[in-house]
Amino acid sequence: MIVSVAPLLKQPIGAQADFRVAESPIDPHGENSGLREAGAVSIDADIVATHTNPGAYLEGTADATLEAICSRCLVPIETPVHADFAEQYYARFGVVAGEALGEAPTDSKTIGSDFKIDLTPLLREELILATPLAPLCRPDCQGLCEVCGDDLNQRPHQHEAAVDERLAKLAELRDFHAERE
Ligand SMILES: [Zn+2]
Ligand SMILES: [Zn+2]
Repeated sequence: MIVSVAPLLKQPIGAQADFRVAESPIDPHGENSGLREAGAVSIDADIVATHTNPGAYLEGTADATLEAICSRCLVPIETPVHADFAEQYYARFGVVAGEALGEAPTDSKTIGSDFKIDLTPLLREELILATPLAPLCRPDCQGLCEVCGDDLNQRPHQHEAAVDERLAKLAELRDFHAERE
């Protein structure tokens, strides 16, 4: 979503403008399609931009649904993600006369001569940062069986009965030594 901050920058320092990005589901060909690179299938974000000198300070929250894979049982899941963020965008040109302003800090986000800000890359970045490293289909997911690879949520089972006889012998030996120590 591309927004113009020109009207905001024409107002006094401290003036604010609200922006909302709500899309459910996200259209893969729409202007917010970049959010799909973060796995987002829907998003609801509220952003408040404050006129600062020089530029705009964007503060917001985003709630999105991401497509992910359960890190234990590997089933595809949809997981909710919440992000709080704040980012300064430095204006490089005066909004009235178009004069060049001072250099923005290295690696900072800037506002070009069109006074537009694309919110999609900002939201994409924030969603990636907020994505859990090991998402779960449910907090108590039992995962996959280490022996046969079957899904323990769907088919809870154990393999005690099938323990190899040699392993049983080893266990006996181990217990024997443990007793002697
Ligand atoms: Zn799972
Ligand atoms: Zn098994």
